[in-house]
Amino acid sequence: MKSQQHIGPVTKCQICYSEKLEMVLRYGNQPIVQAYLTEKLLLQPETTYPLNLIYCQSCGLLQLDYIPDPKIVFPKNYPYRTGLTNMLIRNFQELADFSVPKYNLKPKDLAIDIGSNDGSLLRAFKEKGMRVLGVEATDAAKDANKNNIPTIQAFFNKKITRSILKKYGKAKLVTATNVFAHINNAPELAKNISSLLDKDGVFISESQYFLDTFEKTELDCVYHEHIRFYTLKPLIRLLADSGFTTVDAQRISAAGGSIRVFAQKGKHPQSKNVKKLISQEEQAGIYDIKKLRNFSKKAVKAKRALVNLVLECAKNGRVAGLGSPARANTLLNFTHLDKDILDYLCEKSGSPKIGLLTPGTHIPVMDEKKLFQEQPEYLLILSWHIGEELMKIMRRLGYKGKFIMPLPNPKIIN
Ligand SMILES: [Zn+2]
Repeated sequence: MKSQQHIGPVTKCQICYSEKLEMVLRYGNQPIVQAYLTEKLLLQPETTYPLNLIYCQSCGLLQLDYIPDPKIVFPKNYPYRTGLTNMLIRNFQELADFSVPKYNLKPKDLAIDIGSNDGSLLRAFKEKGMRVLGVEATDAAKDANKNNIPTIQAFFNKKITRSILKKYGKAKLVTATNVFAHINNAPELAKNISSLLDKDGVFISESQYFLDTFEKTELDCVYHEHIRFYTLKPLIRLLADSGFTTVDAQRISAAGGSIRVFAQKGKHPQSKNVKKLISQEEQAGIYDIKKLRNFSKKAVKAKRALVNLVLECAKNGRVAGLGSPARANTLLNFTHLDKDILDYLCEKSGSPKIGLLTPGTHIPVMDEKKLFQEQPEYLLILSWHIGEELMKIMRRLGYKGKFIMPLPNPKIIN
């Protein structure tokens, strides 16, 4: 049955069910990026899952070759809160300012956000007078409800769709930001969204854009939370299969480079942006397996260069890491840079990761204060996609050592 939740190895494309799947980049078996460990958990086996990027020759979708159980990837105590990332708050405000007039959204219209986390996105629409409703599986839902953003704590599926329709009716706006590539069974997901949406409503999704990943060799974007890596062509097809026209698309800077897509039910004209972006994707070579293999070669080259560079630094001094974002765990496990090479990673005071060990590589996560006291000679920037900003902040706060920028070309910055 196509509508069943799929967990385990991916043998057919997640969008078009083709079996013409090609290996692009092998990351090996890796732990779940949020599965931080206590010292006590080190006495237990640590579970890893295959993490490999594959390409569908039929529809052009890049995807993982294995889907772990979402309850393991997004446990109730999932630590991330959208509201802590200022860049996302600005992004949601900008989204609301643009889409409310453009799609004629009115006060009292219903806006539903899927994977709504702490309600940060819905807040921007609530402030425009809309009725809002979130759906969120993790305990971030509790924070949202506390902040007066009504939120159902559940995984989004057919059953939840039916109960929302019964209780609230159809929505004029459905949003799914940093979640549309995460939810299992993409065709059913698109159908459920379509049934929630009013006939003249709009569906807006934001996902990491594989064109950015490809152009900037962002190999660390790949982890088990993202089971699909969108480019426009397969995304348009996925939405069309559920009766949507992709009316507009924008490249945005969120999460190291994302794509924001606007879709409406029925036949509508497509904006020039959509056509322009597809031609950029084609020119870059995203739908060409040979070019994709070049991406893979570049990633392996960057891995070797980074390992050499960090080992060289470790000979001359102490190396610590700045931040412990999800993506860092892909990078650290892919390069095998572990506790014997990096002394510790540091997070801002208050981070729930402080006192724990990184999954797979077992590097202790410490309070950022330690960094300024101990002044290690080298600091590896793990959120390198915002590296320029971070280096300025670290200098201002008093860090005196050298920075290591891991990607796309590993280098030391004085
Ligand atoms: Zn496909």
